[in-house]
Amino acid sequence: MYKHILFATDLTEDTEYLIEKVRAIRGLTGAKLSIIHVVEPLPGYSYAYLGIEDIEGQLVKESKQSMEKLGQQLNVNVADQHIEIGPTKTKILKVAEEARIDLIVCGSHGRHGLSLLLGSTANAILHGAKCDVLTVRLPEEQSS
Ligand code: AMP
Repeated sequence: MYKHILFATDLTEDTEYLIEKVRAIRGLTGAKLSIIHVVEPLPGYSYAYLGIEDIEGQLVKESKQSMEKLGQQLNVNVADQHIEIGPTKTKILKVAEEARIDLIVCGSHGRHGLSLLLGSTANAILHGAKCDVLTVRLPEEQSS
């Protein structure tokens, strides 16, 4: 069965829904669990005029705080909590390969996704991953 699961999270409130599924799968398989959140780089000029410096740094800082909390909730070592900066799909697939992940768990669509369609990240993971992928169907009210 699965030995190492990677939970890809956008750290929105959907995460709460996914946590229960991740816990259950981990309980059934006894697999090791890692978590990943990717911060997409933003063009600096779009925020500079608002007086917000280093938006990326701030996003990473906030992500680290949420990730720390999530790590405690799911009992995941700090070393297995990945915060990456770059294109979401590429980073998730890279970490999955490096950590020899055999199951990636993600939501069916993010906050801005259409409920009937598979979101772009979920779609990209599904098409690009070399391992199994579990896309958890998120309830509509969670993401509209
Ligand atoms: P999306 O395809 O963007 O609508 O998101 C679908 C799922 O992909 C989410 O429920 C998460 O599991 C995962 N995901 C989306 N964005 C990120 C991100 N920035 N970092 C890690 N996982 C993500």
